[in-house]
Amino acid sequence: MSADIIDGKAFALALRGRIADQVTAFAAAAGRPPGLAVVLVGDDPASAVYVRSKGKAVKEAGMEGFEHRLPATVSQDDLLALVDALNADVNVDGILVQLPLPSHIDERAVTTRIDPDKDVDGFHPVNAGRLATGLEGFVPCTPLGCVMLLRDRLGDLTGLDAVVIGRSNIVGKPMAQLLIRESCTVTVAHSRTKDLSSIVCRADIVVAAVGRPEMIRGEWIKPGATVIDVGINRTEDGLVGDVDFAGAASVAGAITPVPGGVGPMTIAVLLRNTLLSAHRRAQIPYDRDAL
Ligand code: NDP
Repeated sequence: MSADIIDGKAFALALRGRIADQVTAFAAAAGRPPGLAVVLVGDDPASAVYVRSKGKAVKEAGMEGFEHRLPATVSQDDLLALVDALNADVNVDGILVQLPLPSHIDERAVTTRIDPDKDVDGFHPVNAGRLATGLEGFVPCTPLGCVMLLRDRLGDLTGLDAVVIGRSNIVGKPMAQLLIRESCTVTVAHSRTKDLSSIVCRADIVVAAVGRPEMIRGEWIKPGATVIDVGINRTEDGLVGDVDFAGAASVAGAITPVPGGVGPMTIAVLLRNTLLSAHRRAQIPYDRDAL
């Protein structure tokens, strides 16, 4: 193996430490800690695990967590009423509704009901538009975490050839927008892309967000490229990413492992977005460089 391993776990831990310091300063200035409301509908086990780990991280950062658990049978109107109440609550800086929602609820109706200025997940169309047009807003946590790792590894990304595989609203599209913002030359590939290997092999940066175990082959990777593997796939051999890790690590310059790469960044950036929201809402300046 020649590639350096990008340690997302260590990076996320350090970021969470810097956030906790700023939370203390914010609470002293504002007279209250930043607040994050998390809404969980039903009892999907994976969602329950995510909500628990978010709650723990919020507490460890010194923020206030407001957890709302609703039964799977809750009506859409009642869920929207809760979102309205959270939008109006002055102690809530960020609102996150854990997806997926039960099939009788229209996810789009719920995510668009969240006040865009409390939408710390960055999923609201207003925030997608802000990102696309270069306005201040909230950027989805996972792709922003990927860019942080890339900048930490490579410094200035200007002019680099980047390929994003996946075009979801949550990962692929915002990832492409962020890389454009970093002045990369960006190609977005998806399930209809022809000859994916010939596109991947030119890239200085490869971001894989597909959800197919080890689909991106090591022999496609350009020597020295930086590989960011967003995929989380549960297989008989445990968790694996979308990239053939052993093959890619023998040619890449650097690569994120799964687990321990992109995954830990998502919660750290969620805390960052919540802290940012608290500062914006209270009109208290913050140390942007530390975040
Ligand atoms: P989606 O299923 O929403 O999107 C997958 C994308 O991959 C689609 O754009 C799809 O194309 C594309 N795709 C599917 N098959 C192929 C193929 N054969 N060749 C090229 N492209 C293909 O997934 P998400 O974006 O939500 O998540 C992607 C992965 O990232 C998953 O493994 C998920 O678990 C993981 N993830 C990890 C997070 C973390 O914290 N680390 C957070 C979020 C996601 P098309 O649009 O044409 O269908």
